[in-house]
Amino acid sequence: MARVVVVGGGYAGLATAGRLAKTGHDVTLLERAATLGGALGSVHADGYRWDAGPTSTLLPAVLRDLFRKTGRPLERELDLVALETVRTHRFVDGSELALPGGSRSGQLRAVEELSPGQGQAWLDHVAAYTDDWEVLRRHYLEQPWERTSLPADLKERLGSRETLQRRLRRTLKDDRLRDVAAHPFVTDGHAVRDVPAWMGLVAYLEQRFGSWTVPGGMARVGEVLAARMSTRGVDVRLRTVVRDVVVRGGRAVAVSTDDGEVDADVVVCAIDPRGLPALARLVERTMPAIPPVVCHVGLSGDLPEVPHELVLHGDPTLVVRTGGEAPDGGAAWTVQGRGRLAEDVLVALARHRIDVRGQVVTRVDRSPRDLVEAWGGSPLGLLWQGRATVQRRLGPDTPVPGVYAAGAHATPGAGLPFVGLSAALVAQCVGPA
Ligand SMILES: Cc1cc2nc3c(=O)[nH]c(=O)nc-3n(C[C@H](O)[C@H](O)[C@H](O)COP(=O)(O)OP(=O)(O)OC[C@H]3O[C@@H](n4cnc5c(N)ncnc54)[C@H](O)[C@@H]3O)c2cc1C
Repeated sequence: MARVVVVGGGYAGLATAGRLAKTGHDVTLLERAATLGGALGSVHADGYRWDAGPTSTLLPAVLRDLFRKTGRPLERELDLVALETVRTHRFVDGSELALPGGSRSGQLRAVEELSPGQGQAWLDHVAAYTDDWEVLRRHYLEQPWERTSLPADLKERLGSRETLQRRLRRTLKDDRLRDVAAHPFVTDGHAVRDVPAWMGLVAYLEQRFGSWTVPGGMARVGEVLAARMSTRGVDVRLRTVVRDVVVRGGRAVAVSTDDGEVDADVVVCAIDPRGLPALARLVERTMPAIPPVVCHVGLSGDLPEVPHELVLHGDPTLVVRTGGEAPDGGAAWTVQGRGRLAEDVLVALARHRIDVRGQVVTRVDRSPRDLVEAWGGSPLGLLWQGRATVQRRLGPDTPVPGVYAAGAHATPGAGLPFVGLSAALVAQCVGPA
């Protein structure tokens, strides 16, 4: 049995702590905030409740696996439901695409309707990722790997110079479809010219496995996992800021906090490693992806019909997420903004003829800086700066013996599925007690 210290109690920290405790380790979870969950938490005001970060997830199997491997199956505690539409895109010319999730034929129909003759091109674009997904899944995302001996087909993909921008220009004629395929990256703050082409496999995951949510909010996932910490006997210490990893004799032996050192045989970094000096020098050639401007609004009265997730393309690009919880007769929306946002986000929204300014009961505004300060780093992980970015991150292991890395900064894609996979990888690297 190893003494494991997990640094950071966001989704990555909870998932890793739960897995390692279940396999017999003595786990301590250190979290700087007063609550667990990190970005997978909620914001409350005046009877309204919004997801602070994620409102849906891809790859439900990753979440199900986590629940099974840490205790009770997910279905016993949460309702994970498939969204018929991944998201609805409204383009600058006023046209609209409701992109169906988990359905090839549904996507063919929807794309044909938007752009006659382009449905098959879209299917071909997505299908081209089938092999990428299989190779990455088998050799990189689900199995620990050796940095120096990656299988040839994996090495070829990770080393490819093709950018997502170039791929989209080659495969899709309609600019609107390129915007659809680029959206998951643009919304996370990346420039498409800096994202490698293989990351576009997110479109394949959306089409093949769909997008899923939990009624009442994805934050429920964080709450259930937080409760699971006590079931699994994890020693959770809130309001505990980890300052560094203590390395003696060439390996990690503890972490330092304001209350002294906490001894460890294994340290799992589930935060931005830039926050820990012993690791920061190992990632100095990377930068974090910055969160968007976020405005949570509590509304009442007659409201325009807005789907679960609506993307309003343009500059700025706005994303409206409508799944929050509200008192009777109300609605809880979150509006995210990216790009040239020189005015109030609700004014920008009104320009798209969604004017709710007269119906605001309450609102909580959070700037990118507020969010990064709240979570002690960006939950969106590394900014893509070209194909080398994927090699410059840490995780699942690190050059410091005894230190592993999970979470948004330790995985090629920052969303919940990739973060969940990164936690599973660390658990495999550490092994059972
Ligand atoms: C606005 C927004 C919307 C998003 N929407 C989606 C979505 O719809 N679907 C999706 O899949 N993903 C989404 N994401 C991404 C998702 O939130 C992340 O993938 C995931 O939550 C990252 O989890 P994490 O544990 O790696 O990081 P975090 O959630 O950032 O957790 C890190 C934790 O570590 C703690 N911590 C930091 N420093 C220290 C320290 N020194 N000592 C102790 N504790 C520390 C923090 O307080 C925090 O609790 C969204 C993100 C944002 C910001």
